[in-house]
Amino acid sequence: MMGPAHSLSGAAAWLGVGAAAAAAGHPMPWPVLLVGALICAGAALAPDLDHKAATISRSFGPVSRWLCEIVDKLSYAVYKATKKPGDPRRSGGHRTLTHTWLWAVLIGAGCSVTAIAVDRWGVLAILFVHMVLAIEGLLWRAARGSSSDVLVWLLAATSAWILADILDQPGQGSDWLFTAPGQEYLWLGLPVVLGALVHDLGDALTVSGCPVLWPIPVGRKRWYPVGPPKAMRFRAGSWVELKVLMPVFMVLGGVGGAVALNVI
Ligand SMILES: [Zn+2]
Repeated sequence: MMGPAHSLSGAAAWLGVGAAAAAAGHPMPWPVLLVGALICAGAALAPDLDHKAATISRSFGPVSRWLCEIVDKLSYAVYKATKKPGDPRRSGGHRTLTHTWLWAVLIGAGCSVTAIAVDRWGVLAILFVHMVLAIEGLLWRAARGSSSDVLVWLLAATSAWILADILDQPGQGSDWLFTAPGQEYLWLGLPVVLGALVHDLGDALTVSGCPVLWPIPVGRKRWYPVGPPKAMRFRAGSWVELKVLMPVFMVLGGVGGAVALNVI
């Protein structure tokens, strides 16, 4: 899928989690629902850091272009080192290492640890990175162009600062789900994991599938491309994605959000 569909599916997924959490007796304060949805929308772009043309690789100027090259090389090296006889030859690392459940868990755990260990600046950094991605993903063409980059960064920095202040207030969600002292913001890793997994799921629906199970082998393959039967797959950016999936994500997200906030 393309950036906007990935971001929308990420936001919708977190709003769905909000509805489930409310049903399970852990209702999210509204800042957790909002911030989580934005982080998840941003995190749903992150796995494509292995692709030069992806939204995330252009979102932070030279820093992300440089990171993208490293991630591509690393992914390709891991692919070559761990492939089984049934895995095809490849020429690059796109849709390999960063498109696995293990990567999702590691990135999410990394964010949780950063939020706890580095405290306020850690939380701000996580919020800032994901706000930039959420803005780029959800506004897409409107946020594109080199001159708008600085505006996107400023908007993301401002909203990260404001949202962190709101979350810090008592009862507004810094201790949602994990309530013991010292566990504030531990939950920040959850929308990060979820976003990456939703991205993998979205890619699995497209023609080439997604090796989300790695390193668990399936038959003669360790990079088994998970996906539905060929006839049910679609091309990235096709009408199914734009005219069917994106409106569905919006409706599901709206319903999830309403349930999560107890409006319906
Ligand atoms: Zn992808």
